Amino acid sequence: MAARLELEHVSHRYGGDAPALEDLSLAVEPGELVALLGPSGCGKTTALKVVAGLLRPTSGDVRVGGRSVVGTPPERREAAMVFQKPLLFPHMSVARNVGFGLKMRKAPKEEAESKVHEALRRVRMEGFADRPPEELSGGQQQRVALARALVTEPKLLLLDEPFSALDANLREEMRELVLRLQREGGHTTVFVTHDQEEAVVLADRIALVFEGSLQMYDEPQAFYDRPATREVARFFGATNFIEGRTENGSVRTPLGELRLASAAPPGGVTLTIRPEAVRLEGGENSFRARVLSASYLGTQVQYELGTDQTTLRAALPPHVRLAVGDEITARLPPESLWALRA
Ligand code: ATP
Repeated sequence: MAARLELEHVSHRYGGDAPALEDLSLAVEPGELVALLGPSGCGKTTALKVVAGLLRPTSGDVRVGGRSVVGTPPERREAAMVFQKPLLFPHMSVARNVGFGLKMRKAPKEEAESKVHEALRRVRMEGFADRPPEELSGGQQQRVALARALVTEPKLLLLDEPFSALDANLREEMRELVLRLQREGGHTTVFVTHDQEEAVVLADRIALVFEGSLQMYDEPQAFYDRPATREVARFFGATNFIEGRTENGSVRTPLGELRLASAAPPGGVTLTIRPEAVRLEGGENSFRARVLSASYLGTQVQYELGTDQTTLRAALPPHVRLAVGDEITARLPPESLWALRA
């Protein structure tokens, strides 16, 4: 049964000067999958441990299903956590590992056996019940860890970079598994990752955290289309920033008057546009530029385009071949420009 999770003004300080988490507030709806995303050391694991009850926040509240759980010990929080390393008991079979939580709760034997079987089936590991963990691959061990988390039917599923140690193909397979489990079980899930692509693929919403503070909490697409700050835009791969001033509905910039599809804030602004949104054509918001450099990246070619005033990056499909020194016309489509307050 899924529950709503709320963090309210949660801060945590380990003892040093800088808090690991600072005034973090966010709500995860029942059955929603939220990715907690950010660079290494930004406080993601700390936040997850606070939710799981492995850490008591220095201040703030954590509520599950509307009830504060700050004083509730981890084993009574109905939250299951999966870590980067599977942490299976080496001397127990796969089935006993998965059933451990049920045994602790003194579930009747037959019921426990059937739940273990079902959990292993859900992660496609039913043929491995009697194996010791050491005879499993890293990906299989992580599937068992997922089964162990699911078997107690937790209200919250907390995943701490569970696939970061796996190779790229396996990681993709495991992401699909998590999405399938999520669809089937409808758990309220928090997934910690430093991988922006992983967050985008998996999450209903992304909570982006830098240095313990929430920067933006929204659907994945919003991080590309409407980044909250320059840093957020940069984290999501935007590299073009154009300084300007909003005047009479458009923005005066070194590239000329640029029109935006959305209203720009008044005064000084920084416009951002993703390299792949830059077009090679004339029309509204177009300007002349020279190709300064070209880097072939397989699926695209990245160009640096220079005008007398500024340089911009453009990413174009490989069949468009420009040579360094070419004079071209480029256009910044109004719907791809986003204005940040300078
Ligand atoms: P990573 O992606 O590298 O796992 P993270 O975003 O999960 O990082 P945390 O592990 O939550 O980050 O750490 C946040 C900050 O708190 C870091 O500056 C870290 O050094 C510090 N920290 C974490 N655990 C402890 C601890 N037990 N004692 C003191 N400081 C800690």
